[in-house]
Amino acid sequence: MDLQTPIQKAGRIYTRYLRQFEKLGIKKLEDLLFHIPSRYEDYSIISKINQVQQGEIVTILGKVVNIKNDYTRRIRLQKAQVADDTGIIDVTWFNQIFLTKVIHEEDNISLSGKIGIFNRKPYMESPEYELLRQDNTQYTAIHTGRLVPIYPETKGLSSKWLRRQIYKILQERKNNLLEYIPYSIIKNNNFMEIYDAIEQIHFPKSKDIVNKARLRLAFDELFLLQLAAISRRNEWEKKLTGTPFSITKFSKKIEEFWSKLPFELTNAQKRAVKDIFADLAYSRPMNRLLEGDVGSGKTVVSAITMYVTCLNGYQSVLMAPTEILAQQHYQTINNLLSPLGVKVELVTGSNKSQVNNQKGENWKFDILIGTHAVLSDKINFEKLGLVVIDEQQRFGVEQRTLIRKKGNNPHLLTMTATPIPRTIALTLYGDLDLSYLDEMPKGRREIKTWLVPPVKRENAYRWIEKQILETKSQAFIICPFIEESESMQTIKAATKEFDRLKNTEFKNLRLGLLHGKIKAKEKDDVLMRFRNGEFDILVTTPVVEVGIDIPNATIMLIEAADRFGLAQLHQLRGRVGRGDKQSYCLLFTESTSNHSLQRLKAMETLHVGAKLAELDLKLRGPGEMYGTMQHGMAQLKVANFSDISLIEKARLEAEKIFPKLSQYSKLLEKLQTITIKQVSPD
Ligand code: ADP
Ligand code: MG
Repeated sequence: MDLQTPIQKAGRIYTRYLRQFEKLGIKKLEDLLFHIPSRYEDYSIISKINQVQQGEIVTILGKVVNIKNDYTRRIRLQKAQVADDTGIIDVTWFNQIFLTKVIHEEDNISLSGKIGIFNRKPYMESPEYELLRQDNTQYTAIHTGRLVPIYPETKGLSSKWLRRQIYKILQERKNNLLEYIPYSIIKNNNFMEIYDAIEQIHFPKSKDIVNKARLRLAFDELFLLQLAAISRRNEWEKKLTGTPFSITKFSKKIEEFWSKLPFELTNAQKRAVKDIFADLAYSRPMNRLLEGDVGSGKTVVSAITMYVTCLNGYQSVLMAPTEILAQQHYQTINNLLSPLGVKVELVTGSNKSQVNNQKGENWKFDILIGTHAVLSDKINFEKLGLVVIDEQQRFGVEQRTLIRKKGNNPHLLTMTATPIPRTIALTLYGDLDLSYLDEMPKGRREIKTWLVPPVKRENAYRWIEKQILETKSQAFIICPFIEESESMQTIKAATKEFDRLKNTEFKNLRLGLLHGKIKAKEKDDVLMRFRNGEFDILVTTPVVEVGIDIPNATIMLIEAADRFGLAQLHQLRGRVGRGDKQSYCLLFTESTSNHSLQRLKAMETLHVGAKLAELDLKLRGPGEMYGTMQHGMAQLKVANFSDISLIEKARLEAEKIFPKLSQYSKLLEKLQTITIKQVSPD
C-alpha cells in the first residue's frame, strides 16, 4: 500500500468511513495527509499537579490511582484520581462509560484540559486523555501535551480518529511523500520541504513552525492552481485554430444595430465590445469571461457578439441555467435582432420534444437560445461559430465542453454576475481573458438599503405592506439557509415562515413560496405568476434564480443577513431595482456581534459588487459561515485569496517554471490531480 492507494482499498479501518471521506473530499491515503487542521488546541504547557491554577489549560502526566463509574446521579459520571510526584488530582468525565474499560489503575496517563475548582479543590473536567507506555520516555503524545491539531470534521469522523490515522500514515509512509516542487523555488523562497511541512502542519513543534508549514502549503496551492491555468491557456493558444471573423466588412450593419438601441452603451460596455471584436478577428478562438454586476448590461454585449457571428455566416448558441432565464433572453435578443433579419429560436426542457419532432433536420436558425436542453444530441448546428454561456458558474465542466464540441473550436464568451475580485480571477481563471463591466447604465437608481434591528421588525412589515398597497409593487422575502446546502431543514423553515407571514403579518396580501425542492416546472410556474403580478410577495430560500428580471419587484427583505457573504447579499439585492421605481433592500439580523453589524452596514453605502466582494475578503474571519458560501468559487484549503503578495509570488514562479515544465515529472504528476479537481470555465 502506498500513498496513492484509494481509500476503498485501504483496509477496513478506512472503508468503514467511506461516506465521511467522500464528504471531506478524501479519495486516497495521501489526501489524508493534505487534510489540513483548521486550528490547534494548545496543550503544550505541562504542569505538576501541585502547580495547577484554576482556569488554566494544562497537561498533567501521572499514574491512575483509581477510576470508577458513578451512577448515583442522573448523568453518569466517570471519576478518577491521578497522582504524580507532587500530589493527587480528581478527574471527571460525563457519560463516557467506556472509559473505565480503557483506563485502568496504575496506567501511566497524560491528561490535557481545563482546571476547575470544586469544594476549593482543583480538578480536571473532561480532559483529553492518552495512555502512555510504561517506559514513557519513548512516547510521542499526539492528543495531549502538545499543540494538538483539530481537523475539519464531519459527523462520525472525529478529530481524534483523524489525528490517530494521520499520525500512523506519517510514521509508516512519510518517506513516500516526495517533493514535487523544483528545488530552486524552495531555496529561493526559503520554504520548508514538503514532508517537513506536512509533518509540522499536523504535529507541530511550535506555533512558529505551524506558520512556516502553512506558508509552504499555501504557496503550493496557489502555485499549482496558477500553473494549471497557465497550462490550460497554453493548450488553448497552441492547439486551437478558430475562425477569424471580419468586423470592418460589416461596420455599416453594426452601426445600424447601435443606432436602433434605445440607449447608449456605458463606457465599460464599449470597452468589452472592443475587447470582444479584437478576439473575434483573431485566428485563435476567443475565450473571454464577461464579468459584471447584475444589471450592468451583459446581455446586449452578448447580442452584438452573436450578431457579428451571424453576419459572418455562423450560428451562435446562448445557454442559460434556467428555463425562465432562457425565455427572458429569447425575448430580449429576438426583439433586438429579428428586425435586422436574424432568425432567433428557443429551446427549453418543456419544448424540447416539440423541437425534435417538428423542426427535424431542416431546422434553420442563426441564434439558438436555451437551457441545457441545447446540449441534446438531437440538436445539431450546421456552422456553430460562437458559444455564449450565461451564469457560467452554474454549469459543470462537462456541459461547457459538450456545447463547445458542437462546433469546430467556436469562440467562447462566458458571463457571470458573481463578483470575483481580481486576485481570485487571476488565480482561478488565469487562462481566460477578462472583461469587466464596472459601471452601471446611467439613470439607474441606487437601491436604498437598511440594516433593520430586531425591535423594528414589526414596523418594517407594516411599511412593506403599505408600500405594496400604495405603489402596487412587489416584494421578495428571503429566508435563511439553515445549513450550507439547501437541506430539508432549510425548506421546512421557509415553509413555516411562509405560513406565519401569510396568516399573521400579511393577511391582506397574496403570498407565493419558492424553494429548491420544488420541481423545475412548478418553480417556473411560481416565478411566472409572480412576474404576472398574481402574488404580492414571494417567500423563498436563497435560491432565487440568478438573473431573474422582475421589474415590478422593488422590495427585498433578507432574513439572517449575517449568514451571507456581502457579495451574495449584493446579488440577492440585485433582484430588485430593475425598473424605474425606487427600490429598497431590508437586511434583518438577530446578530449582536459588532463585527457582523459593521460588515452589514457596508451594504448601506457600497453598491458595487466587486467592492463588496473585496471588502468581504478583508473582513472574513476564520471559520465564519459566509466564508464557505461563496457560490461558484473553488474553495482554497490553506491559502487565502486576500493574500495578494503570495498569489503574485506564486504566479511569478509558475510563469518561470512553465516553459521547463516537462523536466519536472513529479510536478507534472501533481498538476494532473489539480486539473481534474479544479472547476474552471473550460
Ligand atoms: P445583466 O448584466 O444583469 O445580464 P442585463 O443585460 O439584463 O443585465 O441588463 C439589465 C437592463 O439594463 C436591461 O433592461 C437592459 O436593457 C438595460 N441596459 C443595458 N445596457 C444599458 C445601457 N447602456 N443604458 C441603459 N440601459 C441599459
Ligand atoms: Mg443577465
